[in-house]
Amino acid sequence: MTRPRVVSEAVVDPYAVGRDGLAALLADEPGYRAAQVQRWLVRGVDDPHAMTDLPAALRERLAGALTPPPTVLRSTTADGGLTHKVLLRSGAGEAVESVLLLYPGAAGAAGRATVCVSTQAGCAMGCPFCATGQAGLRGQLGVGEIVRQVTVMQRRLATGAVRGDGIPDHVTNVVFMGMGEPLANLDATVAAVRWLNDPDGFALSARAITVSTVGLVPGIRRLADLGLPITLAVSLHAPDDALRDDLVPVNRSHPLAELLDACRDYRDRTRRRLTFEYVLIDGVNASLDQARRLARLVGDLGAHVNLIPLNPTPAVPWRAPSGNAQHAFLDVLRTAGVAATIRRNRGVEIDAACGQLYADYAMASGAVLPAARGAAERVAARPGDTAAAPGDTPARP
Ligand code: SAH
Ligand code: SF4
Repeated sequence: MTRPRVVSEAVVDPYAVGRDGLAALLADEPGYRAAQVQRWLVRGVDDPHAMTDLPAALRERLAGALTPPPTVLRSTTADGGLTHKVLLRSGAGEAVESVLLLYPGAAGAAGRATVCVSTQAGCAMGCPFCATGQAGLRGQLGVGEIVRQVTVMQRRLATGAVRGDGIPDHVTNVVFMGMGEPLANLDATVAAVRWLNDPDGFALSARAITVSTVGLVPGIRRLADLGLPITLAVSLHAPDDALRDDLVPVNRSHPLAELLDACRDYRDRTRRRLTFEYVLIDGVNASLDQARRLARLVGDLGAHVNLIPLNPTPAVPWRAPSGNAQHAFLDVLRTAGVAATIRRNRGVEIDAACGQLYADYAMASGAVLPAARGAAERVAARPGDTAAAPGDTPARP
C-alpha cells in the first residue's frame, strides 16, 4: 500500500491528513492509536501533550510531527457573551477570523452553538460592500486551518471557558460565512465539510452545515455532487443583472439565469430548501419595486430569503435602510408568498459582521486598501429605479 504523501513531510496538520494519514503516521504503533488521537482531535484537543491516554514518548514524538494549534491574536465578545470572535493565525500564515454564536435554548431545551468559519484570508470576489472584499485575496486556507476554527470553539465550549444557561457544551452548527468565498477554495471546503459530517469526525448532520456562496456555479454543481443535504445559501443582493454586476462582480461571469438554474438543480438533487441572502443597502437595492422584482425572481424556488441590513464597513459609503424601510421590503416579499426574515444583526446568521475584526486589524497594520469607491460611484451614476421613491417605504403601523 502506498503511504499518503503528507507523512513524508516533517510536520503535518492532523486535521488535514484524515484518518488514513493518521494511521500512516502511527504505522509503527498499535492499531488503536490512530482512533485514540482522532478522539482527542474531535474534542478540540490538538496539542499532543494534552492527549493524556498516549504514552509520554508518543506524545513527545507527535508534538514534533504535528502542526501546532493556531495562535489567537485577538478575542472579542459581544451581545452579552453570546457572540465570540477570534482572530487566528496558523504558523506564519495570514490572520483569519471566526465567530461563535450562541443561541441559548429556552426552558431546558438544547440551545445552539454555531461557528462561522473563514475559508480564505481575504477574498478575490471584490463585492464592494464587504469588509473582507476590501482586502483582496491574501491566501487560501487548508482544510486543517478551516477545521481548527471549529476546534478552537469546541474546546472553549467543552472546557466551560464559554458557558451559560441553555448553552450546549459542543458545536452544533457550522456556517461557511466568514472571510472568503468557500467555493473558490473548493477542495479544502469539501474536505472540511466531510470532516465535520464524518460520524467518526465531528458527526455534525449535513443539515447543521451551511455553505454560503457568492454564486460560483461550478462550485454549486460540485457541492450537489457530494450528495449531502448541506444547506446552500446564495448571496443574491440584487434582483437584476445590471445592479448585480456592480454589487457582486462575479455576476458578470455567472449571471442570474445561470445561477438560479444551478440553485434549482441543487434543490432538486439535495431536497434542501435554498436560502438567498440579500444585503439591504439604502438607495441601492432596497426599494419596494426591487422587493417586488426579487419576489418574482425567486418566487417559484420555494426558497427562504434572509435580509441582512448592511453592516457598516470601513471605507464603504453606504448604509442600511431605516427599520421601517427594512420591514416594508420584508412585507412585500411575504405578501408575494416568499418566506423571508430579517437577520438579527450579530454573528453570522450574522453575517456580515464577519470580516470586520479582520478589516480593523488589517487597516491598522496598513494592509488594506479601500476598494469600494468605484462601485459606489457606478451605482450612483446609474439611471433608473435603484433608489426608493419618496413615500415608497411607508412606516409600519
Ligand atoms: N463569500 C461568501 C460567504 C462569506 S460572506 C458569500 O459572499 O456568500 C457572508 C455573507 O455576508 C454574504 O451574504 C455577504 O454578502 C454578507 N456580507 C458581506 N459584507 C456585508 C456587510 N458589510 N453587511 C452585511 N452583510 C455583508
Ligand atoms: Fe468575498 Fe463574500 Fe465578501 Fe463577496 S461578500 S467579497 S464573496 S466574502
